Order: sequence, then C-alpha cells, then structure tokens
Amino acid sequence: MADYQKMWADLGMNLEMHDILCSVLPGAIGDVFLSQKNRPEKMDYFDFVLAEVHGVRPAELVKFREEGGKVFGTFCAYVPDEVIIAAGAIATGLCAGSQFWVPGGEKYLPANTCPLIKAMLGARFDRTCPFYRLADVYIGETTCDGKKKAYEILGTDVPMYVMDLPQMKREKDVKKWAGEIRELKDMVEKETGNKVTAESLKEAIKITNAKRKALQRLFDCRKGKNIPISGTDVILALQIAYYDDPKRFTQMVNTLCDELEKRNAEGVSVFPEGTKRIMLSGTPMVIPNWKLHNLVETSGGAVVCEESCTGTRYFENLIDESGETVDEMIDKIAERYMKINCACFTPNEGRFDDIIRLCKEHQIDGVIDQNLKFCQTYDVEGYTLEQRLKEAGIPVLGIETDYTDSDAQQLKTRIEAFIEVLG
Ligand code: SF4
Ligand code: SF4
Repeated sequence: MADYQKMWADLGMNLEMHDILCSVLPGAIGDVFLSQKNRPEKMDYFDFVLAEVHGVRPAELVKFREEGGKVFGTFCAYVPDEVIIAAGAIATGLCAGSQFWVPGGEKYLPANTCPLIKAMLGARFDRTCPFYRLADVYIGETTCDGKKKAYEILGTDVPMYVMDLPQMKREKDVKKWAGEIRELKDMVEKETGNKVTAESLKEAIKITNAKRKALQRLFDCRKGKNIPISGTDVILALQIAYYDDPKRFTQMVNTLCDELEKRNAEGVSVFPEGTKRIMLSGTPMVIPNWKLHNLVETSGGAVVCEESCTGTRYFENLIDESGETVDEMIDKIAERYMKINCACFTPNEGRFDDIIRLCKEHQIDGVIDQNLKFCQTYDVEGYTLEQRLKEAGIPVLGIETDYTDSDAQQLKTRIEAFIEVLG
C-alpha cells in the first residue's frame, strides 16, 4: 500500500494497531486471491482496490469532505443509498468482517454477540478503520436486536441516526418504510444543506439501478455450465460494492462481465468440468471475510451463487423508474427495498422461494447455509430452509462459524465430505 500515514494520523487513527492490521493484508491477498489459477484479467481493478483498501477510497472521501461534502456510513442492505446520492453526499458501507476488530467490540458487548456486530464496535472504538473515522453520520436500522442495541453504544461516540425498519411486509409496513425514507431525506438534507429534488433523485435511482443491473449481469455469467470466475473473486467484488464510487464500480463490473461473457463463449473455465456447483446462503460475508469461499473452492467445489446481502439480496429487484415527483419516487424506493428477504422479517417465505429459484437458475448441486455464530434470526430460519430444500430435493449443509480460523480444518473436513456426497 502507498504511504497514507499522514492521512491516517489526521483521521485520529491508532497507527500502531492499524499497522498490525495492514501487515496481514498482503499475505491474505496472496493466499486467497493471487494463488487462484486462470483468474479473469479484469479482476485487476478489484485486486487494486483491495490492496489499497484503507488508502485510495478513504483519500477520495477526505478530499470530498475538504470540499464541503458529507459522508454517511451505513450498515445494512435496507438503507437506501439513493437518498444520500441525491443530496450530493456519499454513502459508504461500514459492516466489518475481520476478527481483528472482535476483541475491541467485546469490551462493550456480550461475548455471545454476532462477530459482525462486535467487529463494528471494535473498528470504531479501536480507531483502526479510516471509513469509520470518515463517516460524518452513521445510519443504522432496526433489524436484529444485537445491531439495534449496538447502535446505542456507537451513538455515544458518533452521530447516529436509526431508521425504524418494519418486521413484516404488509401494505402498511411498506408505507411505514416510505415514511422512514422521507424522514431520512429530511435528515440528509439538513446535514448536507442540499435539497433532494425530483431531478437529483431520478438520477440517483438511475445510478443505483445501473449498479444492480451490472451485478445481475455478473451473476448471469455464473449460470451456465462453464464457470468463468471463482466465487472467491465474485465475493470480493460484492464486498467492494458497498464502499466504492457507484458509477466507477458499475463500469468496472461491466468491463469484467465483457471478459466473462467472452470466456463463456470460448469455454474458458476456472474449474475443471464436473466441479460441484455450490450456493452459499445466509448471513452476509463482509470484507475481509473470505473464509467459506476459500474453504469450498479449495475443497473441490465452486461457489456459483451467494444468497446473502453480499450477494443476490443486494442487487435483485430494480427500483421502478416511473416516479416523477420526489414523493412518488420514495414510494417506489420503499417498494424495492421491502422486497429484500432478510431473516429479521416474519414471515419470510419469500426467501425460501428465492433460494429454490436461484438453485434452478444456477444449476446448484448443493447449498451451504452459513450462519454467523450468535445470529439468531438466520439460525432459527435455517431449520425451515433445510426442510424446504430437502422437499425440493436439494442437498444442504448447515454451518455455523465466526471470523476466527480455529474451526477452519473441521469445516474443511465437513465441506469435503458434503461435496463428495454430491456425487
Ligand atoms: S442480513 Fe438483514 S440486517 Fe444484515 S445487512 Fe442484510 S438485510 Fe441488513
Ligand atoms: S448476521 Fe445476524 S446477528 Fe449479525 S448483524 Fe446480521 S442479522 Fe444481526
């Protein structure tokens, strides 16, 4: 990584601790990504963003703020970036996927809290993530209980705005979410001093829909017999989607898709013929959590679909672009976001239907339903999901894990056995 010491110091980061975090990155990139054979050339952009993860994009945000811009940090696929973009601000994802931050979070949270939440607090309070330093306001949401309560603790250190997400999907709930988005707009307008106009919101919807279309195209490239890209590479792109500039990201994904479509036409695969096709469903895998992808793809399987918020839940369903007024557009935004099927909702039948549909579309041989330890909603939902998949004749393996490597060998043995049984 280039030298960003001054920027990090100016951001009030703990440089000594941050150096330790940065020191493991080159090795991890080499082991997980660069060791793969026959990677698409256009992954070079995503490799670069990863290698400079705490440098290039934070430097852009620093410049943006110096010019008077505001940055909003978000934690969930339900928070609509459109409103933030329409106010001329930047949205950046703050979900944390490293074990490095977990002990810091455990100083504030019970040990039996999901690692994602613990890492969020550790990243903030240990002062080792530039994105956490750069966001002017954090935007949370009432999804799971752990996050809700953790936002109260984060709110003691940083301006925290929480959206009240309904837990059901009746018509009145969609209306309620539209109301929450209107209030978010008011807050963002106040913070930025910019008005969200029909014109700016229309443009913002176009930007995010284009990003969704590019990611859908990327997933479409993984539906045929030929597998032109590893799941390990795709999950990296999805993780970067949360914090990269949306227009540039869309362009880079489309450029990658050009290459993948050519590979499919020419039969260029990264896996030998007959490699078992695996779907990973469940809790999000946020940067730098590549654990399960790496385990599956070094155990004789290929991940060809992710049903998660770092997967299909992030980009499926476009926003209807027919709205003309700000109010109409907010209603359309609410409708789209309320189609995301997170386990925080009840009932959540739509998620089972999505998974079975995706299994067919991606010709899945087996599903690995992964659950981050202590995530109750996905854990409980795993029971019904397994029943539904069994009824549909799709083999499934339920796995519970965290960000440590302590269970890696045991998981590898189970995954290898699962893949072997797929025939
Ligand atoms: S899994 Fe649920 S709570 Fe987590 S990011 Fe996705 S929608 Fe939000
Ligand atoms: S993985 Fe589960 S417990 Fe963790 S933040 Fe997401 S919904 Fe909450």
